[in-house]
Amino acid sequence: MKKILANDGISAAGKKKLQENGFEVVTENVPQENLIEVINEVGYEALLVRSATTARKELIDACPKLSFIGRGGVGMDNIDVAYAREKGLTVANTPAASSDSVAELVMGQLYTMARFLQDANRHMPTEGATQFGALKKKYAKGIELGGKTLGVIGIGRIGQATAKLAIGAGMRVIAYDPISDIKEIELHIHGLGKVKAPIERTDLKGLLAESDFITLHVPKQADGSAVIGEDELKLMKKGASLVNAARGGVVNEESLLKALDSGQLSYAALDVFDNEPTPSKDILSHPKLSLTPHIGAATLEAQDRIGVELADQIIAHFGS
Ligand code: NAD
Repeated sequence: MKKILANDGISAAGKKKLQENGFEVVTENVPQENLIEVINEVGYEALLVRSATTARKELIDACPKLSFIGRGGVGMDNIDVAYAREKGLTVANTPAASSDSVAELVMGQLYTMARFLQDANRHMPTEGATQFGALKKKYAKGIELGGKTLGVIGIGRIGQATAKLAIGAGMRVIAYDPISDIKEIELHIHGLGKVKAPIERTDLKGLLAESDFITLHVPKQADGSAVIGEDELKLMKKGASLVNAARGGVVNEESLLKALDSGQLSYAALDVFDNEPTPSKDILSHPKLSLTPHIGAATLEAQDRIGVELADQIIAHFGS
């Protein structure tokens, strides 16, 4: 029986699938300094990690029986991927498993900004009993997402998942992406099945000018530059709102704060920050920001899918 060490854990669904396919799965967390010894002693042939455990050159060299390293999630900075592949190991991650989770967070943030939920949640506990009428007046001019234009910058996996939900919410979706040539997406309508919807493509300037809401789904840029900085913010519709659930740095935080203060932007929602895990005080305390601590991918369903996706890849690897 082939033995798998899921050192940072694996979902119950993933574990079950592996066990049903004849693998032994151990989820005990072995400290990094004992990992090589335990892998060799027990004879593990696959190592599954999330972000905590690392699989460096030294481990790859020292564990000759290991033929598969799996990362539950996207980034593989904790694995020497090229070296492992050079040595003939299979290295896999699960890039698609959390796209729907991030997309749902974005929709939550769009509704939040449209109806001032972040501000209402801050003020109701302290003023709800004494200033009810004033707060009611303050939050009375919300808007609906239906009929508004959502600009998606980066129409890859998460961009498309977000576009599907936004179309479902009655929004017009326009997208800018210099690489992807996607022109339509498949929606799964409960009780109806699959329906194809066109994606309107535009350039960045057009997207900035036309969108009531903008959401970014791009990777950290190779040169570290911001995709949305001062110049881009100026080109946005006055009073528009912005979501960054991609990576800290793709929106310039300083320029964003200025745009919020001047009223150029109404609101912004951030799940990712410069200097994680210690975002700036100005960002954390700004009343026009709706904030979450990098939880875009963190749903129970995504954890299940990550486990099952890894299980499928292990089954394919050892089955071949
Ligand atoms: P993806 O590779 O499927 O799509 C990214 C798209 O962005 C590609 O189509 C690419 O052509 C496009 N792109 C790159 N640079 C661009 C630019 N300057 N302007 C416009 N488009 C550009 O990636 P994905 O799975 O959709 O993930 C997108 C990003 O989301 C990831 O790189 C990651 O940084 C982030 N992410 C965040 C969380 C979270 O917890 N908040 C979770 C998962 C991923």
